[in-house]
This record gives sequence, C-alpha cells and structure tokens, in this order.
Amino acid sequence: MGIVEGNTMNVVVVVVLWFLFVSFPAFAQGWGPEVFFLYSKHSTLYGMQTKGHAHPVSIIIRDIITVATSLGFDVTDGPELEQEKYNFDMLNIPSWHPARDMWDTFWVKTLDGYGKRLMRTHTSSVQPRYMSTHQPPFSVMIPGKVFRYEPTDTTHEAQFFQLEGFMVGTDVSVATMKAFFAEFFSKLFKKDIHVRMRPSYFPFVEPGVEVDMSCFKCGGAGCATCKHTGWIEIMGAGMIHPTVLRDCHIDPDVYSGFAFGVGIDRIIMMKYGIDDIRVLYNGDIRVSAQF
Ligand SMILES: [Zn+2]
Repeated sequence: MGIVEGNTMNVVVVVVLWFLFVSFPAFAQGWGPEVFFLYSKHSTLYGMQTKGHAHPVSIIIRDIITVATSLGFDVTDGPELEQEKYNFDMLNIPSWHPARDMWDTFWVKTLDGYGKRLMRTHTSSVQPRYMSTHQPPFSVMIPGKVFRYEPTDTTHEAQFFQLEGFMVGTDVSVATMKAFFAEFFSKLFKKDIHVRMRPSYFPFVEPGVEVDMSCFKCGGAGCATCKHTGWIEIMGAGMIHPTVLRDCHIDPDVYSGFAFGVGIDRIIMMKYGIDDIRVLYNGDIRVSAQF
C-alpha cells in the first residue's frame, strides 16, 4: 500500500473509531482504547512514515570531521580490503616481527599473485599510503572501519571504527603533539580538556605513548565514567618512527611528525553511557532513534 493510500486508510479508520467512540459508550469504556492502541502501533503497515535518525557512529564521525577541518587537517580514507605492505610492512612491522601478534588479523586469499591481502586491522594503513604520495608538510585524519579476528563481548567487536591522525613537518615535536591533543579533545567534547602521556610501545612510533585525557564529565573531580580517577585512557600515539618516514621517501633528518589512533566506538560509549559495543552494530533502529 502506498503512502497516499495509507494516509487515506488512516483517515477512514480514525473516522470510524470516532463514530464508534461517540455512538457507543460501552465501546469507549471497553474495547475502544485497546483497538485504537493496536491500530496506532501497527499503523506504519498502512504507510505512516517516521523520521529517521543519524546513527551515533555517524554523528561522532561528523563531529570529528568538523573539528579536524577547523584545525587545518585534511580528511581522507583508504580501502578496507588492504595490502599487507600498507597494513604492516611499511609501518615498521615486517612479517617476521613478533609485534604482528598485537593484531588479530582476517587474512584474505587472493589469486592474483599480488601479495597477501587482509581486512585492515587499523586505519594506520592509510598513513604510508598518504605519506608515500605526498610531500610534507601535511596534517591528515582518517576515520574508518577496521576489522579484528577475535570473539565479541561487551567491549570487543570483530569490526569497529577508528580514527587515525598524523602531522608531519620540519618543526613537529612531542610538545606540538601534546598541545594538539588538548586542543582536539577540547573541541570534540566542547570542554576544557587536559592531557597527560605515559610511555608505551607501538612499532611505528618512537617514542610511543598512551594518552589520558581529563574526564569530560567531572572535569577531573572523579565520577563513574573515569572510574573516580579524574583521567580517561583515550588512545595510543607517538612520534612517527624514522624507518616509517624513510620507507615513504621522507627524510627523517629534515622532517618529523606525530601519529595517533583512537577508537571511535570507545568515544561514543563514554559520551553516551553505552556499556555494550554490540548494540551499535545489531541494526536495532531503537538504538539510533535515541540520538
Ligand atoms: Zn569523571
């Protein structure tokens, strides 16, 4: 039934119900409300249209792009079915390196003899793609879907969204990186956010850091979101490894840069108080209808 016919049908039903309510008090006090409730519940069958909502992932990615462009970053993307060299080799993770175990990977069989393919395990794969085809200075962000070969639970999905970002120039330092993170998260959460960094390890950066940001809900006083510490672990980052720059034909004696990778789903779950990542991907329209 089309929309016009559906609306006609709804008018007819409402007129008939109105007649029954007015003419028969027994109907109005008995089955009437039940019949009206059941009809209104199923009236979409007869062409009643409801307005759609943007999914929370789309909302956050839109916010990220707005902030990224306001800070002078380009926003780009790359393929989800990726070549091994961009996902691993050119990020200083050769096939023999034990660091590959850090990413549970969906490998894909190919028949074209072009090397092994995989579903990208991180949006970092776009970094060597971009850096090997552009001349610094540049600042880039890449929001996109990534894949992991692992069981799902409340905090893990086999597919989720990540934001990769990097900046390369002649005077980019750790201080630049820290100042940028504070600015980026302050704009994204529309709060005054501070950041702190702890030493960490990722093969494609040196030094590598874990980044904590001051809690966007309590401002550092302590609440359930930050587990009463005032800080939230938000992402990994670091100064781009000289080997990665060199492999992309960028001279590490002239240029330096920082890179970071943050889980978009993690930001969404914190921002909206969602405690199970799987509700973002089960296709239930009642989830997105809340936003
Ligand atoms: Zn807090």
